[in-house]
Amino acid sequence: MTVGSTTGLLDAPAEPNTLVFQRCGWCASAMYHRLLCPVCGGSDLRTERSGGTGTVRHATVVNRNTPGARNVSLVELAEGFVVRGRVMGPAAGIHSGDRVRLATAKDPVRGEPVFQLLDEPYRAWI
Ligand SMILES: [Zn+2]
Repeated sequence: MTVGSTTGLLDAPAEPNTLVFQRCGWCASAMYHRLLCPVCGGSDLRTERSGGTGTVRHATVVNRNTPGARNVSLVELAEGFVVRGRVMGPAAGIHSGDRVRLATAKDPVRGEPVFQLLDEPYRAWI
């Protein structure tokens, strides 16, 4: 697979809403924003693009420094890596095991990925 472009700009993905991650060339582990593989310590990391779907592994509600309660979640993507980001919807309504899809790769304020719930039990917040 060919990754990259002729412009030489490493951090310019073709689609702004695509999450990129690294896969270890030694043990094939997937990781996010690492310099070394956390599994084998290898530095032969290739950049790949995620399909953007994942599962919430841990969800926290943060009330500090924000006008409203904010959800902070750890999301495990289908490719096997975990990112810290935000899930849209009621802050208290996000639970471990919820399936989510990437909405925005980089929140304009915090630079975090933002996800939306795939299986919405109700639409009370709309
Ligand atoms: Zn590795």
